[in-house]
Formats: sequence, C-alpha cells, structure tokens
Amino acid sequence: MHRVLVLNATYEPLSIVSVKRALVLLLKEKAELIECAEERLHAARTSLPVPLVIRLVYYVRIPHQVTMAPTRRSVLQRDNHTCQYCGATSGQAVLTLDHLLPRSRGGETTWENVVTACRTCNMRKGDRTPDEAHMALRRRPGRPHYLAFLLLSEATSREIWGKYTFTISEA
Ligand SMILES: [Zn+2]
Repeated sequence: MHRVLVLNATYEPLSIVSVKRALVLLLKEKAELIECAEERLHAARTSLPVPLVIRLVYYVRIPHQVTMAPTRRSVLQRDNHTCQYCGATSGQAVLTLDHLLPRSRGGETTWENVVTACRTCNMRKGDRTPDEAHMALRRRPGRPHYLAFLLLSEATSREIWGKYTFTISEA
C-alpha cells in the first residue's frame, strides 16, 4: 500500500501517512482530497478514490528544528552522497562520516559537526578541523529541513508529490 503526502492548510508539506490514516482524516473532514490515484478502493457498496495528497483543514504549527540525532544514512542523504570537501560521489569514492571537530578532541555527533567525506579526504584531514587542515567545506552543515527529514525514510515517494515538495532543497 502506498503512502499519502499531507499538506498543511497553507499547502506546505507536513507529513506522510498511510492511506488508511488519510482516509480517516478525509472521512472526519479534517482534510480535503487534493490529488488521487487513478485506481479506486472498493468498499461494500461504494468505491473511494485512493488519496495521494491531502490537505489539512486546520493549520498545524511546524517545529522549527528536527530533534532527531543524525545517523550515517541521514547525513549521507542530507549531503546528497557527496564528499563535502572534494565533491566525490558514492560512485567515485568510499564515503565516510567526518567530524569537523574530531571526536578525539571532544567533537560530538551533531548535525552541525558531521559531514560526508570520502575516505581520502577524511584521512587527509586526520585529527584536525577543516580550518587547521586548510580544507574548505562545500556547504556549512546543519539540520535538514523538517520535510526533507521525513522524506529521507521514504524511498517510494510518488512523483506527483514533487509539485508540493519543492521546498525540500531549502535545507
Ligand atoms: Zn573527498
């Protein structure tokens, strides 16, 4: 069963839910149907459109920051599987996680202190900060956008979502 993109009342992407949850929101009139699939769900005497995108009737405040700790997978996805020093991608090099302030010097695993680095750059940087190693970062690391974070776990997002998820790159 596919998943449904939930938009806030302002049409900003908010969350991803199951079809069942989306139907409950629609039936309770807490959301309206924005996009549906061509196929229909068949119930006893009726058939329902399969929702792809729904919009909440009421505005939901979005938390400013994601509180979840970074993982190897989520950092690589945030950094688009690209070494943040030389630009090598996963097809070109072995990608690792680099702590800007090395762990050996008290650097923590936070969104701001961890970047994707190829093994060569990681070894070259060694036990130094990027400044000490004179290695420029392509982008200052930070917490991913709230929605981007939600989508990290969604390998099967529908193409139609693209219309609503353009804010995803504003990490
Ligand atoms: Zn590199």
